[in-house]
Amino acid sequence: MEYQLPIVALVCNFSGSNFTSVMLHHSDVETLFHEFGHALHSLLSRTDYQHFSGTRVILDFAETPSNLFEYYSWDYGFLRKFTKHYSTGDPIPEELVKSMLEAKNMFAATELQRQILYALIDQTLHGAQLSSPRDTSSVVADLRTEHTSWKYVEGTHWHTRFTHLVTYGAGYYSYLYAKCFAATLWKKVCQKDPLSLATGSALRTKFLQHGGAKDPADILNDLIGSDAIRNQNGGIIPDITCLAEEMKL
Ligand SMILES: [Zn+2]
Repeated sequence: MEYQLPIVALVCNFSGSNFTSVMLHHSDVETLFHEFGHALHSLLSRTDYQHFSGTRVILDFAETPSNLFEYYSWDYGFLRKFTKHYSTGDPIPEELVKSMLEAKNMFAATELQRQILYALIDQTLHGAQLSSPRDTSSVVADLRTEHTSWKYVEGTHWHTRFTHLVTYGAGYYSYLYAKCFAATLWKKVCQKDPLSLATGSALRTKFLQHGGAKDPADILNDLIGSDAIRNQNGGIIPDITCLAEEMKL
């Protein structure tokens, strides 16, 4: 048997680039680390079968490494190692990172509500057939009225350009799952010393190297040392405690 080396390419199209330098917005940096999390999942994977390698995991767990690596783009100790002012060369100020984090958490509950609405729309549109046909705009309007704090604006049809409704097909909820898993892993495994050998080794040997060849509940149990809750189908149920604490909800 021969090990096949993985090859991963991140193809990025960042704004503000020219041929000599690139100045990234922080949201670009966050996206880069998100995609880098997917890349590491594939690069560090060591499974017997290629079909279980890297990102080839069950959907409930697929976005967890990427959401976990987003945390690195918000960690001052890590950012100061490579971010520099474009003209003075000074590292990013700690106060600035603190302010950015405060701004991020300012509307955290609204953002969470928005993600829950997206997942509900996705589940409803891909759910049981209705007895009589309905247009999707009225489905979206009703869900918005029932589950969010803001109103549907008549005559708008934003969901028609929300491509995740097609590509995820009833799986959009996995983003919320990933946010919960990533918040728990960051707090319990990474936050204290994100760049230590111990943290890196734990992420590699207990998580990323298994790809889709190990039950995600067992991966979580090995990493955080407590029992992940399973539903009746053997799937995992995320614990929102760490995410809620982080968002100050
Ligand atoms: Zn992703």
